[in-house]
This record gives sequence, C-alpha cells and structure tokens, in this order.
Amino acid sequence: MIHYQMDGKVALVTGASGGIGRSAAQAFAGSGASVVVSDVQEEKGEETVKLITDEGGKAAFQLCDVSDEASVQALVDRAVSEYGRLDFAVNNAGINDIAKDEYELDVWQRSLDVNLTGVMLCMKAEAEAMLASGGGAIVNTSSINGLIGNPMQPAYNAGKHGVIGLTRHGALKWAKDGIRVNCVCPGFIETPMTDIITKSAKLTNSMKLITPMDRIGKPEEIASAMVWLCSDAASFVTGHPMVIDGGATAM
Ligand code: NAD
Repeated sequence: MIHYQMDGKVALVTGASGGIGRSAAQAFAGSGASVVVSDVQEEKGEETVKLITDEGGKAAFQLCDVSDEASVQALVDRAVSEYGRLDFAVNNAGINDIAKDEYELDVWQRSLDVNLTGVMLCMKAEAEAMLASGGGAIVNTSSINGLIGNPMQPAYNAGKHGVIGLTRHGALKWAKDGIRVNCVCPGFIETPMTDIITKSAKLTNSMKLITPMDRIGKPEEIASAMVWLCSDAASFVTGHPMVIDGGATAM
C-alpha cells in the first residue's frame, strides 16, 4: 500500500467495522491521518480502532447510523471535537441483503435509506465542516451496480446509480470551495457482505467468470484508491466514478 503525506489531517469512514471501510480506515491511518471509525456495529468498530492504534496510528470510534440525520451530525461533530477539523470523508456504509425481495416496499425503502439517503446526509454534514476549515475531499462508495443493470436487486441497483449522481452533484456544488467529491465503483470484493458467495465454490467461480482478471478483489485494493482520491496526487480529480473491478465492466 502506498502511503501519502496526511500528517495532521483528519478522516472519517462510515461502515468501518469490517470489509472495505476497515481497510480504508487503516489506509488513512497508515498515511498519518487521524481517523474517526464509525459504524452501527460497535464491537467490531472498536476492533478497527485497536488494529490502527496497535500500529501506532490515531483513531476513535463513533457509533453512527448513516440513515439518521442526527446520528450523522454527531459523527461529524465528533471528528471536529476529537481532532479539531475534518479533511477527508469516506461514505462507505452500505447494505446488500441478497436474500430479501427488494420489491417489498419496506426492503426497498431501507436499502435506499442506507445506501442513498445515507450518502446525501453524510455529504451535507461533512461539507459544512470542511467549508469551515477551507476544503477537503469526499469519496462515496458506489459499485459496478451503479453503472450496469442487476436483474435481481432493484433497490441496490438504483441506490448505487444514485450515489454516482450525488457524487457528480457534490463535485459541481463545491468545485469552487476546495471540496472534491468522487466515488469508487468496486466489482466483486471479498468482505463480510459477500461471505454468502465466497463460502460457496460454485458461486465464487461464477463471479470469477464475469471478472476478466479471474479473481475476487481485496478490500485494500479499494482502500488504496479511496486514499489516493483524497490525496494531493488527485488534486484535479472531481466528479469521477472510479471503476475497480478486475475488468468486469470492460466486457
Ligand atoms: P461490509 O458489510 O463489510 O461493510 C458494510 C458496513 O456498513 C458494515 O460494517 C455495516 O455494519 C455497515 N452499515 C450497515 N448499515 C449501516 C448504517 N445504517 N449506518 C452505518 N453503517 C452501516 O461490506 P463491504 O463489502 O465492505 O461494503 C462496503 C461498501 O462497498 C458498501 O457500500 C457496499 O455496497 C460497497 N460495495 C461492496 C462490494 C463487494 O463486492 N464487497 C462491491 C461493490 C460495492
């Protein structure tokens, strides 16, 4: 993992109790940033904090449900009260329960509440804090489901398309204020979310078949892009949906 110069900077990551979010929190800390780790799962979030502090990094946990506006505001307030400012935010929390029928209205609504409204609530509160300290960078987590169709999951599919729309909106809204807004569009990545697939050799093979690189991605391969997008190396990049999918959408 490449390390950037982020000493004195402050990052927050939602959905950081495992998977891509945990890896992102570790990557920001590895580059010297102080990190507010947040999630609805407290115990695993504290594990992320320990992984960071055991390596000499700075991190604190804040319980946050991204679909709840007050909870999101408390998260941003915690970053500012704990570390004095907010420079980088990764809006990564998400749900994808493939066992549920997303045509059921309550399942549809919950998916959009977390995967889309959650990103909007986070961006709004984060941008306010970033404006107060002269700018920053936001990375949202979309998916290849934000770029192509998925016949099984209408809410996840629509929500992830929406995240790309929100990213472009934010990029334009804050372009002159020093806030860059980008998103990542991961392909199939090995995380707790995809456990149900990676535990089955048959399902894993079918995922590899739609991935030209013939393997499943690792969380750190998404985390490194998130940190790069926040770094000065990406200083002219905004509104970009970065595809990281082993070639899946190139087919
Ligand atoms: P994950 O399940 O390990 O991580 C998601 C995290 O979000 C969990 O820790 C969960 O507790 C948290 N979360 C759920 N609801 C929340 C809420 N209301 N408020 C705050 N936190 C909440 O899975 P992951 O694969 O690391 O997913 C991270 C992101 O990447 C998600 O947005 C997901 O949609 C996206 N993604 C994943 C893949 C993949 O193949 N794993 C592919 C494309 C996109």
